[in-house]
Amino acid sequence: MKYANSVVDLIGNTPLVKLNRVTDGIAATVLAKVEYLNPGGSVKDRIAAKMLDAAEAEGKLRPGGTIIEPTSGNTGVGLALVAQQRGYKCVFVVPDKVGEDKRNVLAAYGAEVVVTPTAVEPDSPESYYGVSDRLTREIPGAYKPDQFSNPNGPLSHYETTGPEIWNDTDGRITHFVTGVGTGGTITGTGRYLKEVSADRAGGPVRVIGADPEGSVYSGGTGRPYFVEGVGEDIWPASYDPSVPDEIIAVSDAESFAMTRRLAREEGLLVGGSCGMAVVAALRAAKDLTADDVLVVLLPDGGRGYLGKIFSDDWMESHGFLDAGDDAPVAGVLH
Ligand code: PMP
Repeated sequence: MKYANSVVDLIGNTPLVKLNRVTDGIAATVLAKVEYLNPGGSVKDRIAAKMLDAAEAEGKLRPGGTIIEPTSGNTGVGLALVAQQRGYKCVFVVPDKVGEDKRNVLAAYGAEVVVTPTAVEPDSPESYYGVSDRLTREIPGAYKPDQFSNPNGPLSHYETTGPEIWNDTDGRITHFVTGVGTGGTITGTGRYLKEVSADRAGGPVRVIGADPEGSVYSGGTGRPYFVEGVGEDIWPASYDPSVPDEIIAVSDAESFAMTRRLAREEGLLVGGSCGMAVVAALRAAKDLTADDVLVVLLPDGGRGYLGKIFSDDWMESHGFLDAGDDAPVAGVLH
């Protein structure tokens, strides 16, 4: 019989799929790593499993404990999956810009969700960092994995995402592009890919970060933007700025237009940070040759964004529909 012992064992080993339509005019092979095929629906399942394994091993998380984390949703789902299997409670702190659909998903997994305002300073007690710190102090047996500082986040990518990409491309990958949120994906995956390709004839893998315009990674002030899960207004410890060779800033409008194209043209219903990463990937791929193999990581699926990116009304009211070279969603009758 072929089966997994629990959903936790289904994390990772996601496939690569070639992009064929949005890559029109590009000579290089562009492969997408489809992370919504993880059991919790995002790349964040990987760090959740690794962070909780490490916390148990270090005695920081004990039976009956409560996991508290500031999360835009995806890390929460990953933590909730693993926590369920092991009898922990979960409390997640999410900023109010995160859609209701995503919050409802966390609640459906049995977690408690606390919503905090986006438009406050990161060091304010009202911020999602501040509130999660307070809850960790107040709740007995609380453990905060803290994806923004936990070295097991990048390490999970060093141990799984990087080797998967290297093996699945037979070591032919030349460029890796991914969005930067906590920085865990780019730090761990990028570090592995650079190390393993260091002595290769063609040179090491070039690692490129995609960042929302306004975020600190691409030189912004941390001003608000709409794409979720990526960009920062602080510099987290989970990000090693020496890993990326280049950071490409992408606007909300470009990110969302590409997200809609991925659904319509590539059959990939994915989130806004995926559109952002693909815009950056295509910019990086523009002058590459047919010998180049670029892998772009798509962090999550699109169902949590139906009321936003895939809603013509929402897009139009935020000025995004006219801004990109996008068409309204076809065939929707109101
Ligand atoms: N996209 C989405 C939707 C995410 O939730 C995250 C994680 N915050 C990322 C991209 C970025 O991944 P990382 O935190 O590893 O930089």
